[in-house]
Amino acid sequence: MPRKHNKNKKSFFGRPVWRNSTKTISVHPLRFYQPETLDDLKEMVQEAIDTNTTIRAVGSGHSFSDAPQAEGILLDTDHLNKLSKYKFSKAENLFEVEGGIKVKELNKRLDQAGYCIPTMGGIDHQSIAGALSTGTHGSSLDFGAMSKMIKSIVLVTHDQDDPKKVKVYRIERSGNNSITDTAGYTGPEIIKDDAVFHSAVVCFGSMGIIYSYVLEVEKMYYLLEKKEVSDWPTVKDKLRNRRVFQGHRSVFVQINPYLHKGKQLALLVYHDDYVDTDQNLLVQQIKHKVFDRIKRSRRSFQFEVASLLPYFVWIMIWRINRFPGFVPKFINNAVKSQKDDEYINKGYKVMYQGLDYVKERAFDCEIAIQVDSGDEYLEVIENVMQYLRYMSEEYKVHITSPLGLRFVKSSEAFMTPESGYDVCYIDTPVLKKIYGGDVIINKLQQFLLVGGARPHWGKRNDLVDLEYTQSNYPKYNVFIQTIKLFNPSKIFSNLFTKRVIGY
Ligand SMILES: Cc1cc2nc3c(=O)[nH]c(=O)nc-3n(C[C@H](O)[C@H](O)[C@H](O)COP(=O)(O)OP(=O)(O)OC[C@H]3O[C@@H](n4cnc5c(N)ncnc54)[C@H](O)[C@@H]3O)c2cc1C
Repeated sequence: MPRKHNKNKKSFFGRPVWRNSTKTISVHPLRFYQPETLDDLKEMVQEAIDTNTTIRAVGSGHSFSDAPQAEGILLDTDHLNKLSKYKFSKAENLFEVEGGIKVKELNKRLDQAGYCIPTMGGIDHQSIAGALSTGTHGSSLDFGAMSKMIKSIVLVTHDQDDPKKVKVYRIERSGNNSITDTAGYTGPEIIKDDAVFHSAVVCFGSMGIIYSYVLEVEKMYYLLEKKEVSDWPTVKDKLRNRRVFQGHRSVFVQINPYLHKGKQLALLVYHDDYVDTDQNLLVQQIKHKVFDRIKRSRRSFQFEVASLLPYFVWIMIWRINRFPGFVPKFINNAVKSQKDDEYINKGYKVMYQGLDYVKERAFDCEIAIQVDSGDEYLEVIENVMQYLRYMSEEYKVHITSPLGLRFVKSSEAFMTPESGYDVCYIDTPVLKKIYGGDVIINKLQQFLLVGGARPHWGKRNDLVDLEYTQSNYPKYNVFIQTIKLFNPSKIFSNLFTKRVIGY
């Protein structure tokens, strides 16, 4: 069993240490393992049971929240990265993937097999288990968040009959929604239970360690991306009665919350299915290959430059801190610079929005509000922006990138922010080390949480506590009963789960 830890993950003194990507969480685990197989995972979870030590897996550490915090046994899942067609179903588009595979690698391997994921977030560095366990989403009122792909979950956890033993279960929905053809099935014991499934889909590791998922994906498809720069009143009008979504696979918005020259600039991005009958012609393939790289770097040219000159971002941060009055213009430029020609490529390449270099030096809270039939959510967005302007005028503290709006279809999963209704996520990014950055993120949470909004589990959600979760997630009681069943001695709990779900 591999008990090594990666060289990059050692402290100055050579002891294991793990940090999240923004280096806001640092963990000195008692043990730090890198499992490579299901048997490794079983052995590690058995050790946690035997020694009554907490155990937690981490993916890429891209959560800004304390969700990955682990002080007992910490499992780095980088080596759990295999993918294969799912054997126990006749459906062609089901793939079994190990939980540690990074979204980027998953996309590459699906592409080789002629498939593509239906949705994803704006970057591809996350592990699939980390992304799914925290409710990661793109913008899709048609499909929903990434967790909608999940058809089956293989979980390493307590044996339900003998909690002193480790056991592996395959968890699926019941009835016709179960995908595994049990004739000839060889694999972990299957639990076909809707409540267990909907609890497990988004539960930030609190039911056990996820070994693998079966994901339902699509035959490779192409997307056409169009971007329209106008002003916020124009975009707001298009959002009314959901008009803007009609006929588009995906729509998202970026807005300058601050006035620049009396105007609030906004960007509307559309993704449409693109059917090219000549797709298989060699010339088309070459065109896509050659232009892809150029287009990708053109889309974020200044940030590509920034990635070559690491101090560039610190100059941006210095400038904003020294001259906060410059922020409205800075964000205006960020919105304007995204005006682009039409961009056609494979689905996952278009959904990848880039700007990793800057995104990974920023943090945010991303809060989901209900897209209601009366469009009242648009007034909430308006109020958020008014509040940001008030904070700017009164205290000279700011968010430093455009306010993002992404739309996600409702889900049956109990603890995902879009549980039970369609939502609009409001994203408020702030570069690291910006004066008042933490204050503004906390104030925004205070402002939005009063109205019952639900924060992203992987982003800043410091103000969520048990009482808040109980009042805002109607299925909390069923969820927590399931968690207690699978996690009776709390070895899969941490300070985060204690805070947000009280267990
Ligand atoms: C630059 C950047 C861009 C982002 N863009 C988006 C976006 O577009 N849309 C969006 O919705 N979110 C976005 N996020 C948030 C991100 O997708 C989530 O925070 C996600 O959880 C990160 O995945 P990870 O692999 O880093 O998980 P980690 O942060 O390592 O872990 C997240 C949680 O999952 C648990 N976990 C991980 N692996 C396992 C496993 N095998 N078994 C059980 N539990 C496990 C961990 O214990 C932890 O609780 C972004 C984050 C960053 C830093």
